[in-house]
Amino acid sequence: MQNTMAKQQPSATQTSVGAILVINCGSSSVKFSLIQPESGTTLLSGLAECLLTPLACIKIQCNIEIDDKKATELHTLTAPYDHQVALNSLVSTLVQLNLVNNIIAVGHRVVHGGEHYAQPTLINANVKETIDNLAKLAPLHNPANLTGINACQEAFPTLPQVAIFDTAFHQSMPEKAYLYGLPMALYQDHGIRRYGFHGTSHYFVARETAKLINKPLEQCHFISAHLGNGCSVTAIKNGQSVDTSMGMTPLEGVMMGTRTGDIDAGIIFHLVEQVGYSIDQIKTLLNKKSGLLGLSGLSNDCRTLETTMLDKSHPQSAHAQLALNVFCYRIAKVIASFSASLTELDGLIFTGGIGENSAWVRKEIVNQLSLLNFQLCEEKNQATRFGKVGNITHNTSRPCWVIATNEEWVIAEQSSQLLTSTSAS
Ligand code: ADP
Repeated sequence: MQNTMAKQQPSATQTSVGAILVINCGSSSVKFSLIQPESGTTLLSGLAECLLTPLACIKIQCNIEIDDKKATELHTLTAPYDHQVALNSLVSTLVQLNLVNNIIAVGHRVVHGGEHYAQPTLINANVKETIDNLAKLAPLHNPANLTGINACQEAFPTLPQVAIFDTAFHQSMPEKAYLYGLPMALYQDHGIRRYGFHGTSHYFVARETAKLINKPLEQCHFISAHLGNGCSVTAIKNGQSVDTSMGMTPLEGVMMGTRTGDIDAGIIFHLVEQVGYSIDQIKTLLNKKSGLLGLSGLSNDCRTLETTMLDKSHPQSAHAQLALNVFCYRIAKVIASFSASLTELDGLIFTGGIGENSAWVRKEIVNQLSLLNFQLCEEKNQATRFGKVGNITHNTSRPCWVIATNEEWVIAEQSSQLLTSTSAS
């Protein structure tokens, strides 16, 4: 089954319907979109980047026709070049476009909700304090998310702010999946356990696949592979996450663009004791210099590696090939291991920049999984890229779906549903 699922274009009437401003705030960037929650229509989207440096700029793409043209604006930002300046610039554009009154709430992607949050949550002072405390578990992400929340409260003081946690979908994992083989006190006293990430994406693609196969999500069993710069695999039983490859942090699991994924923890002692690495050097090594980048010595970008691999005259062609081979093999191994978490399997799902677009990576992974009765259809695999969704296996095979993820839409939807339920109660 093929389904092009074209992105929704806004009509004049939709611009007057209430919309959610979705914010994904990183340490030096803010991604944002204004989304109409029922239809998923994106009215406006953009990115502020290089924040906290004089190169700070903001790019805003407006999808509504204004004066007969859809505008893309690029502004440099002024000192102190911070998240607040970026959001103030966004607010001025929203005011100019007459969109500010449409916004009914701000939905924030928050990376770590620990064991506190399995549901979308209205942000108040207590919630902010908990997100702050959870920065122990996500030092790179939660402080940035909190900066975004504070800046939005300043920019939109009258709007409700909602947190949607990346870890929330995985809170259904059983103990046997989330506990490590470490002394129990480390879990009880310090919260050391598997939490999992990319939850919003795994949930969205499972839900979309359930619709495509015409089955209630609660009766579906999938293994989903979110393959982008960060990569994770999740086992979904009766529509719920029962195991996932990322752990207490997003470093565990399959190999990624610049992250190692699973390695023998003994390597860390070896690097400290025999090679003289400091803890900071190890953090940088495992998070930023490993994965596809580290193995290829060339790039973390899958497109660059595929092009280099195919150009046999390129001096690093063999390195690019090796890095991609290891990447695909390790992902296939984790997918196969998750058959132990399920009693039935409706199919495999690919999503994320690589999962949605790289026919080469999908072929390598699916070909490793013939024991699970996956047989790739080359023609469907090549045809299902760049936003197209569908099954890429032969009719006699267990299905393997490609689904374009849309985390922003889920954040908008869940924020809106929370507001409706709180106003009704
Ligand atoms: P992030 O995790 O930062 O959101 P994305 O989901 O956008 O990342 O995925 C980025 C990855 O997707 C990069 O490795 C990029 O090379 C890869 N990618 C995007 N388009 C293609 C393509 N046409 N072919 C192969 N890989 C692609």
